[in-house]
Amino acid sequence: MKSFVYSAAASRVVFGAGSLSQLGAEITLLGARRALVLSTPEQAEMAQRVADMLGDKAAGIFPRAVMHVPIETAREAREEAKRLDADCAVAIGGGSTTGLGKAIALDSGLPILAIPTTYAGSEMTSIYGLTEGGFKKTGRDDRVRPRTVIYDPELTLSLPLGMSVTSGLNAIAHAAEGLYAHDGNPITALMAEEGIGALAQALPRLQADPQDITARSDALYGAWLCGAVLGHVSMGLHHKLCHTLGGSFNLPHAETHTIVLPHALAYNAKAAPEAMRRIGRALGVETDAPLALQQLSHRLGAPASLAALGMPADGLDRVADLAVATPYPNPRPLERAALRSLLQRAFDGAPPKFL
Ligand code: NAD
Repeated sequence: MKSFVYSAAASRVVFGAGSLSQLGAEITLLGARRALVLSTPEQAEMAQRVADMLGDKAAGIFPRAVMHVPIETAREAREEAKRLDADCAVAIGGGSTTGLGKAIALDSGLPILAIPTTYAGSEMTSIYGLTEGGFKKTGRDDRVRPRTVIYDPELTLSLPLGMSVTSGLNAIAHAAEGLYAHDGNPITALMAEEGIGALAQALPRLQADPQDITARSDALYGAWLCGAVLGHVSMGLHHKLCHTLGGSFNLPHAETHTIVLPHALAYNAKAAPEAMRRIGRALGVETDAPLALQQLSHRLGAPASLAALGMPADGLDRVADLAVATPYPNPRPLERAALRSLLQRAFDGAPPKFL
């Protein structure tokens, strides 16, 4: 056993079909009285239903969360929380809504209760992002980590199959990189392997029947574990590439993760053999975990190339430049030429290859 540091991040998790009904009691347990319910415009109806269910424990709803948390939206939401005398916020939705909750918590200290309806994992982390003047600033701050998380698989039944698949593979990316993180530890490794395995088994069952509540529960369980890994350890090359592609070319978040992950893993494979062994074990294969992951994503019907996402071919050089300019910690040093080839293969939808 190698030396390690494990610093547990505290959050309360309430898991299970129908657990949304415990929201009122959970708000009280936080010592709060009035919640501002946050959502995207697309999930406004769900936010209203939650507010109706809460009765006088709801201060109101703010259904204006959007991707990448523009600072203007965050300011409006903070003002609304003040105006309505809210003493906590309930973020119901995917990473964009949780992100808005975090932006409120960052300077108001308002406790956040998250109810995730995708597999993105933001609810388990202290990572926040805010976009100001076209530039996304990210950071870690313990104040933004949701204090309580309610995982109710029933709320994920409405997540379209395509989004369920890419969101699930986005979650797997957190766990896969967590397995070779420089600050990883035995607990996060257990969570990562279990999380990958739960999602890899649940997603094909969802493909067969998106309304299968047992498969939905297993997928959300996997997403929780993968999110917890992201919350505890540092991410490497894969997340760097995806943040660069998303930030500079506005590519969709979960789809970009889905396409890049097998290639990033292949790049790191020889430098992180134990991680590859564990990813492979979670996927049920003995060799070539990166290829097995790509084959899984193809079987699930996920987009197969960056070209299909609208990435311009002449932008690949810039992504390679940006990735090596400010690298994230990674088991293998970043070599520009190899990264440029990796990006080309992801662009073309080629199989992952050690470069
Ligand atoms: P999202 O939150 O942007 O949601 C996409 C769309 O799906 C929205 O319209 C949303 O309303 C809808 N939706 C969500 N759940 C639904 C459901 N159950 N039924 C029907 N529609 C539903 O997407 P996401 O992938 O969850 O989050 C992506 C964002 O989260 C990115 O900005 C990413 O950077 C961020 N993120 C942050 C962290 C972190 O730790 N800070 C971690 C992961 C992702």
